[in-house]
Amino acid sequence: MNIHEYQGKSILKSYGVAIQEGIVAETAEAAVDAAKELQKQTGTGWWVVKAQIHAGGRGKGGGVKLAKSLDEVKDIASKIIGMQLITPQTGKEGKKVNKVLIAQDVYYPGETKTAEFYMSVLLNRNTGRNIIMYSTEGGMDIEEVAAKTPHLIFKEEVDPAVGLQGFQTRRIAFNLGLSGSAFKEMTKFVANLFRAYDGIDASMFEINPVLKTSDNKIIAVDAKVNLDENALYRHPKYAEMRDITEEDPTEVEAGEHNLNYVKLDGNVGCMVNGAGLAMATMDIIKLAGGFPANFLDVGGTANAARVEQAFRIILKDPNVKAILVNIFGGIVRCDRVAQGIVDAYKNIGEIPVPIIVRLQGTNAVEARKIIDESGLKVFPATLLKEAADLVNQVLSN
Ligand code: GDP
Ligand code: MN
Repeated sequence: MNIHEYQGKSILKSYGVAIQEGIVAETAEAAVDAAKELQKQTGTGWWVVKAQIHAGGRGKGGGVKLAKSLDEVKDIASKIIGMQLITPQTGKEGKKVNKVLIAQDVYYPGETKTAEFYMSVLLNRNTGRNIIMYSTEGGMDIEEVAAKTPHLIFKEEVDPAVGLQGFQTRRIAFNLGLSGSAFKEMTKFVANLFRAYDGIDASMFEINPVLKTSDNKIIAVDAKVNLDENALYRHPKYAEMRDITEEDPTEVEAGEHNLNYVKLDGNVGCMVNGAGLAMATMDIIKLAGGFPANFLDVGGTANAARVEQAFRIILKDPNVKAILVNIFGGIVRCDRVAQGIVDAYKNIGEIPVPIIVRLQGTNAVEARKIIDESGLKVFPATLLKEAADLVNQVLSN
């Protein structure tokens, strides 16, 4: 689960990490009040107005702007709130901005000696250990740094038995070229960031940029956090940070029906039971030259009602031009799924796209009979490859 920058920063603060302070606002008027309040708290005279969406690269897309007066705060906030912000990470439709963070300007006017770093904590799945990844090249696209100057990216792996050690935080500060009090500040920054990552069960905590000011403070200017959903039950406080307006509405609806659905860009809707079979089905569709429109696992207890709900979800995607139903009946009985397909036709009304059905396993013969006798225009298949080829035939007609 992703959370907003302002939420990530509040977590950092609670773990003792110094942050660029800010107050969130949903209207231009509230933005001005926030700016005044922030001036009282921090003494700042300039502000940055930062769009709060679940995507990075906001600066590039025009979602982060410096304001040098309260009038500018109001003007910029009124433009950013409500805008459809397009960044390198949002896709071409962009994301609607509902909130802005009014933050203190930490790049003091006239400041020249600042340095920007990159730092993130994440799980290295190959070694099963958390790593701290960091670079002297902060404030830019880290993928670009990795591609062009990979030697400027460093990694520190943490042994879970002993945790992050002092020599490691010192090595990080050293590799970032720091000395004196900035060095010391950085070791604290790293230790607290790692504690935050660990404490909230995050799967990623990225700060880009980490700023060193000319008076040697180390500050988190941005925060991108991904929380491990399987651990959310331990953190009701963070679970509440979920913002479903940032999520795909169809995925949210699917979740409410306990359907495991992920939207993709292709045109072949897939309805499958079991995650492994779903992935194999998507592979086969691609192998046959098609493109899956979604991943959808109806689960091990697929019955008529769930099948109908799954059809409704798949059909919300206007790109879907055909649906491939691939069910292996183990615990699930194929005849129930077949009945679900027939019911879905009845209840949804006309399903505007062809359906290719492969039902194998328990009660497959009965299932076939139900489909055949229903008089519905579905295309039955026995082999998976045959089903995928059928999809392509149907699409090219
Ligand atoms: P992102 O583009 O989504 O990663 O958003 P960031 O929070 O990283 O902000 C984007 C860029 O805005 C940063 O890399 C900075 O260059 C700039 N920025 C952020 N905070 C300040 C600030 O306090 N003052 C100034 N002048 N620029 C800032
Ligand atoms: Mn950033």
